[in-house]
Amino acid sequence: MAITGGTLVTISAKMEIIEDSLVGIKDGLIVAVGRNSDQEYAALKTKDTIDASGCIVMPGLVNTHTHLPMVCFRGMADDLPLMEWLTGHIFPAEARFVNKKMVYDGATLAMAEMILSGTTTFCDGYFFEDAIAEALSAAGMRAIVSQGFADFITPDKPKLEKRMAVAERFVTRWQSYAPMITPAYFCHSPYTCSPATLVNIKEAAREAGILYLMHLLENKDEIDTILNRYGKKPVRHLLDLGVLDEQTVAVHCNWLTKEDMAVFADLGVRVSHNPESSMKLAAGVAPVPEMLKHGIKVGLGTDGSASNNDLDMFREMDTAAKIHKVTSLDPTVMSAETVLKMATTGGAKVLGMEKFIGSIETGKQADIILVDMNQPHLTPLYNCYSQLVYAARGADVKTSIINGKIVMKDRQLRTIDLPTAMENVRVVAADIINQKLC
Ligand SMILES: [Zn+2]
Repeated sequence: MAITGGTLVTISAKMEIIEDSLVGIKDGLIVAVGRNSDQEYAALKTKDTIDASGCIVMPGLVNTHTHLPMVCFRGMADDLPLMEWLTGHIFPAEARFVNKKMVYDGATLAMAEMILSGTTTFCDGYFFEDAIAEALSAAGMRAIVSQGFADFITPDKPKLEKRMAVAERFVTRWQSYAPMITPAYFCHSPYTCSPATLVNIKEAAREAGILYLMHLLENKDEIDTILNRYGKKPVRHLLDLGVLDEQTVAVHCNWLTKEDMAVFADLGVRVSHNPESSMKLAAGVAPVPEMLKHGIKVGLGTDGSASNNDLDMFREMDTAAKIHKVTSLDPTVMSAETVLKMATTGGAKVLGMEKFIGSIETGKQADIILVDMNQPHLTPLYNCYSQLVYAARGADVKTSIINGKIVMKDRQLRTIDLPTAMENVRVVAADIINQKLC
């Protein structure tokens, strides 16, 4: 297969942009990157050639943090403080409504939304991750799927003593599907997981050679909670427990101090930045420009749909570029180019997948999107990075290719039945409304 005629934004180390380009794909891999006029690539132009004239051709976006089934709670409880939102609405709704079918249906709708808005890889953390991996397999997306842990009874693990066995079975089942499906462990937070839980899960993650993820320093109250409970601040607490290393992804980090950043940089801890969710919950603003100066790997994420309330990485890029300018009163920080890298190669590095995805280069897996630039809000075009970050929207994505397979063409999904996916989630929502949970 070849994609011809578009403006290619490679996000390679040289950040090459190629006009009237050609990208060749074979067996799921990118086998050629050049100009449409290059004769050496003529054989790649088969009947499956995609005409990308008028489009930007770019790597698929990488969403480093989300909870897919939470699409079922989208708009259910808004405009509330984090703890009231979590303990008064989200946790009770999860206790009553989260089951394997709800997780599968929610994940399927979320994947439809992501494919339609240009995301090709994501990192999820929730319960019943088996069901998410199954939905993922059907949708043909690429993801890290992380089995969630917390010290309360979770919907998928009614008996606490059995949770490790369940998690290990999950990892064993999916480990051979990498790099399309990669299992991981997700401890909800230092305030919902005891030191023993944090340490035991980290040890199991190290043994399995998988990522270990956690919400960390989301809001200011978390610092006081951990300080009161353990006599130290969250990063010191985790450092003393020995759970921080280069296989740890800390999500949010809105209250990371300079000392914490030195620890992260030293140990190689990676960060997922979720600005819209943190803005909506008034949780804080992560010091991302400082993290980047420290050499910390930072990727972009949306978080779940209950706190965002969508999974559109184009909107997230726009927000990420602007929020740091206004909080620092410096319009030069977090340029469009920096943010676009964060949403592609940056995310791939955070998830440990940079060898496979994140840029359009020969040898990488073919995760590619076409953005239709022939639209009023994208005209004229001076700078691709500015246009993609500040003016484009998820709905401008025309075609999505994952692992060399077309999963959406001309806005039509090929792996998900969208009307059914939406109806299944409306059924869950009707139950929530009937039980007066919103
Ligand atoms: Zn989250």
